Amino acid sequence: MLDYVEHDGLTVEQALERWRRYADRTPPMLVGWLTKAAPHYLAASEDIAWHSTPSGGTGPAPVSRNWGRRRFVYADGAEVVHEEVVSGRRFEGDGVRELRLLRTGSVQGRKRDEAEIALAAGVVASADLVLSGTWEKQALTLRPATRPQWVRIAEIGCSDGTGNVLFDGTAKEAHEKYERDAEAAVVAAAAGTGYLPGAGCGDCDLIGLCPAVPVRPGLLGVDGTGLARRSWSLSTGRSFDDCPARLVAERMFLPRERAAEDSDHTRRGLAVHAWLEDLHRRVPARACAPEEAPPTPDAWSAGRWSVTGDQARLGAQMIADHALTCALGGEAGHVEAHPEQAIVVFDQQANVVVVAKADLLYRVGGAWTVRETKTASVLEESDLLTQFPQLALAVVLAAEDGLRAGEHVRVELERLSATGPVVAKLDVDDPGFVAAARAVVNARVEGWHSAPALKAKPGKICKTCPFAQWCPERKS
Ligand SMILES: [Zn+2]
Repeated sequence: MLDYVEHDGLTVEQALERWRRYADRTPPMLVGWLTKAAPHYLAASEDIAWHSTPSGGTGPAPVSRNWGRRRFVYADGAEVVHEEVVSGRRFEGDGVRELRLLRTGSVQGRKRDEAEIALAAGVVASADLVLSGTWEKQALTLRPATRPQWVRIAEIGCSDGTGNVLFDGTAKEAHEKYERDAEAAVVAAAAGTGYLPGAGCGDCDLIGLCPAVPVRPGLLGVDGTGLARRSWSLSTGRSFDDCPARLVAERMFLPRERAAEDSDHTRRGLAVHAWLEDLHRRVPARACAPEEAPPTPDAWSAGRWSVTGDQARLGAQMIADHALTCALGGEAGHVEAHPEQAIVVFDQQANVVVVAKADLLYRVGGAWTVRETKTASVLEESDLLTQFPQLALAVVLAAEDGLRAGEHVRVELERLSATGPVVAKLDVDDPGFVAAARAVVNARVEGWHSAPALKAKPGKICKTCPFAQWCPERKS
């Protein structure tokens, strides 16, 4: 839409109008966001842009082609080619080049990422015009362009029209910043050759061939013949049940209003998880001790979660209790821990990439176990598999050899509550139990898998929906 405004000279209304002609195949949530985001971007641009240059030039004109460059880099004694392309809105005039990075959320008080800024500044300073499409998987076609003397990098928050100038200096300073803050990170990123299965696997063309993603047809118990490949996780299932349109917003990474969805006890649970995750990441792995609980139980934080008052005290007590049930006991070197382990399995029959995360995958001696940890002030004694679908999925994955290919993996549940910790070991070799777990997983998948479209289901749920502000169909 910004191309319509900046390159074709349309007004915002005309651009929206032209863009809306495609609205029948565009999710309403995206229309809702864009209707606000485009004017926000344009207003912030006015504030941020330079309007005349020191030599009296006319100021910025939009550049329609991407900026990119090709570099020859020596790494490990060999010469390799790096292609670097920046994305954002591009402007140029009178020896100045400006790149405006678009952020979906607000940029007020946003933390600076020096490596990102340095990369953008360095590339803009010596970029040519990219003639080939960005997503073509072949070498870039570049057309030489006159290099700037001055470089500006700005960021704009499209949710609220906030803006920050991130870099404003000579081309020479841009190159120096690149060398200082970006070079090492770029080389390290380009040298990475390991496999990191995760949420991105759903869009990967090599799924089915990847050595890090086991193929387990029939895992979900649904048939996807004729359907496009999609990815699914338990949170996909939850969002779908709440409102199918929420999935669309999540997939497009629309900004969410977190306050709407996080209750006090959710935050406490997340803080406890983050605290334990930090403890379990220690190298070498060792068991948690009671004195490693938060030293200030009335107010503490872990990861990006802060808790105070009753919830903070309960959380600190749960962490201290956890020392009694921590899985990582045993002699040093005997224990290996992988907290927040991503698990990705491809169900070819459903044509679905299953993305899961285990709270803790660990090994003691030769035995592997997945442990899920749940926090609740009160223990509920109803069926564990129904209560915790995550557990049911872990059991199915264990039965299908999807947790750690070739290894027998056990599954256990640790519950931390106001009355103390409890660990339950689940029998993944019991066919009846596995069948029950399959039924739970299948019930979570079925509705989503067979839904013809992800339409909004407005109702009470809108009150706690983090995307409500963008949704034209919300019920207030
Ligand atoms: Zn522990």
